[in-house]
Amino acid sequence: MNDSIKNLYRTLPSVKQLIDLTLHTPLSETYSLTAIKRTVQQVLQDERNRIASGNSRPLTHQSLLEKVLDVMDIDSRQTRRAINATGVILHTGLGRACLANAAQEAVAIAASGHTPLEIDTDTGRRGDRHTFARELLRELTGTEDAHVVNNCAAAVFLTVNAIAAGKEVIISRGQLVEIGGTFRIPDIIRSAGADLVEVGTTNKTRISDYEKAITDRTGLILRCRPSNFAMVGFTEEVELHNLVALGKRYAIPVMDDEGSGALINVPGIEHTVQQSVNDGTIVTCSGDKLMGGPQCGIILGSSALMDKIIRHPLARTFRVDKLTLAALTATLKLYRDPDMAKVEIPVLKYMLRNVDELEKISHHIVRELKKRVSESLVMIGTQRSMSEVGGGSMPKTELETCCVTLNCMDGFITGYRLAELLRKSDPSIFGRIKKDILYLDPRCIEPHEIPQLIEGIYRCIMQTTC
Ligand SMILES: *Cc1c(COP(=O)(O)O)cnc(C)c1O
Repeated sequence: MNDSIKNLYRTLPSVKQLIDLTLHTPLSETYSLTAIKRTVQQVLQDERNRIASGNSRPLTHQSLLEKVLDVMDIDSRQTRRAINATGVILHTGLGRACLANAAQEAVAIAASGHTPLEIDTDTGRRGDRHTFARELLRELTGTEDAHVVNNCAAAVFLTVNAIAAGKEVIISRGQLVEIGGTFRIPDIIRSAGADLVEVGTTNKTRISDYEKAITDRTGLILRCRPSNFAMVGFTEEVELHNLVALGKRYAIPVMDDEGSGALINVPGIEHTVQQSVNDGTIVTCSGDKLMGGPQCGIILGSSALMDKIIRHPLARTFRVDKLTLAALTATLKLYRDPDMAKVEIPVLKYMLRNVDELEKISHHIVRELKKRVSESLVMIGTQRSMSEVGGGSMPKTELETCCVTLNCMDGFITGYRLAELLRKSDPSIFGRIKKDILYLDPRCIEPHEIPQLIEGIYRCIMQTTC
């Protein structure tokens, strides 16, 4: 090792010095000394490697401290709580639906030990882990049979593969959608081993387009709901029941990739799973969108078709675990009493909050913040705005809301910097930023989170003033 590198090493803090710096940050409260020491050693080793490879100048002590904090921050991301002040009810980045209390309790019980997951307690013999979820889905939707997999993408893949591999799948050109960046309907169909037959045009598809495309190789007619965008103007799609009637004439199954999984109507919900079941299609939907349950995909359909899906060798590769089934069945049970579901299931509760209620919450937050934060740093106010359902559900639905606005004064930090500090705090706080003003929407905030939100904002602002 040459002398210049040795000299650069000498500019680095010692392990002890960097640990001491770390111990002066709030994050250190959540970590043991051992964990901090390990991270500090790792960061210093990385820095020595960087210096040895001849890469630029060494970082300052402050930058090294930030590296340590960043590593520890990433470490805790999976278990840290977040406050969703974005106003997006189903935010995929924030984990989509929050579970109802009953579902949280069910997960805790299932997680805490063994469960009779696959044992028929009557006979003591091996049973089926899906039995209870299947019974509930039958009861609630009227479907003949049901199956649960990891997510809706898996539900679509498995269904197409089980029913139409080696055959043709007919779909309207207006429904060849991409949802969430990685879920593209055409790609799923092809990778499930079926040939895609596109019919109609982007904005108009008629029943005659479908009928003309039917051959003796047709295995499935697929309808996909374009759930994250809306087409307006001169458009036409074929109603589901008309597709089913067509399918019946030619003995071809029809599938509705319903996506949202709504089980009851609240204002803003345009379509429910039951409607598709009633129309006589196979239905696929997510568990963690409007249903308000855990991440999973649900397939509903006639016994004959479901049998092919459930017995398919790939079904095992999409099998859900006991925690998912516990959360799902606990959520579904709440729907036995729709009035209870509207109160207990967070997604539905958030959709039903009206602007007067939200305005009260925002005014309260503003009052509390104004007591503690100087108006010379941040201008604090409220502003009417719109919340979104999100998660690829209901592109046309916007819900009126009232946000808290934080407008950082010139010479203080920018709104973007404040948003970053809030994201990195514990619990992480997420808002929306527009023209450097931070908007905090109370729609998806629980009462117990309000003091945490106020405290978090206060701490981030104080952190930058001292
Ligand atoms: C959201 C959605 C999917 C994908 O669902 P995941 O559960 O995220 O896999 C598929 N199809 C439709 C119509 C959707 O809305």
